[in-house]
Amino acid sequence: MRNKSIASLKFGLIAAILTIYFTSCLNSPNGVFFLHKALAKEPITCPKSDLSGVKITKVADNIYVRKGLNEIFTKSNLAAIATISFVVGKTSVAVIDTGGSYCDGARFLKALRKFTKKPISHVINTHTHPDHVFGNAAFEKEVPIFVGHHNLKRAMADRGKLYLDNLTRIMGKDQLVGTKIIPPTMLVKEKATIDLGGKKLELQAFGTAHTDHDLTVFDPEQKVIWTGDLLFSEHTPVVDGSILGWLKQLKILSKIPAKFVVPGHGGPLLKWPEALEPQKQYLEKLTADLRKIIEEGGTMREAQNKAAVSEKNKWKLFEEFNARNASTSFKELEWE
Ligand SMILES: [Zn+2]
Repeated sequence: MRNKSIASLKFGLIAAILTIYFTSCLNSPNGVFFLHKALAKEPITCPKSDLSGVKITKVADNIYVRKGLNEIFTKSNLAAIATISFVVGKTSVAVIDTGGSYCDGARFLKALRKFTKKPISHVINTHTHPDHVFGNAAFEKEVPIFVGHHNLKRAMADRGKLYLDNLTRIMGKDQLVGTKIIPPTMLVKEKATIDLGGKKLELQAFGTAHTDHDLTVFDPEQKVIWTGDLLFSEHTPVVDGSILGWLKQLKILSKIPAKFVVPGHGGPLLKWPEALEPQKQYLEKLTADLRKIIEEGGTMREAQNKAAVSEKNKWKLFEEFNARNASTSFKELEWE
């Protein structure tokens, strides 16, 4: 008898709690929203965008590249700025960089699926700049291994939120819908190899150059290298690591026995190592001009206005990036 009354008391209590909970949910707009969200995950709707210039090119057997736009981040380009790729093996696919927003990555994934239905085993991030990694979230549901330089995880933790805030301010929330930071789950200390089934890709972590966490991918069979932003073509190079370090790392990079390169910007496929030359010339000219300005006691403003301006006609977005490179590198060379 006593057990029965305890059981009915418990039942009554649970029923009362549930009634209060559901009534409060239904009476409060937030509660209803919360309940609705808990029951059904809202789909991410990407904004319509005019990106007719963005297409996927098959550059070699099993190798596909989306050349990025030579633009800065805008309210209408989904940050589709970096050159991104995928490589198809016998059993799986590797994606090399994912684009500049969830929607850029999602569109790339949709296009990829027209070429192959194989699982995506790896998403390789060449470095943490948002135009290369902010599409990662679009690939999350494929459950790949996210791969990066051993410093990438730290770089994402240090800068990811700042990048996301800045891009949201510049491009607006709609363009960045669904975008989030997805850190690497496999870190490359020096070298590593991944196997896509009959297709091996060699990964190499570089010293400070474009950033302090640049990773390259090399397909030894087809002699194609992906440099990430260790190589810019068309788009003015951007110094975010060390100009002297970059020039030093380029010597190591140039020894990789590739025949073709997919750069981080421009492309889609260029001749190797010839494609390195214009960028080397730019970095050397910038270094020489800055050393001269510093030696003559020139100011940072002078450096921004004069350094490497003779290179102007060779590059796109020169106004946007050269002065910034001059200031960054002025600070580095000032203390040589
Ligand atoms: Zn970059």
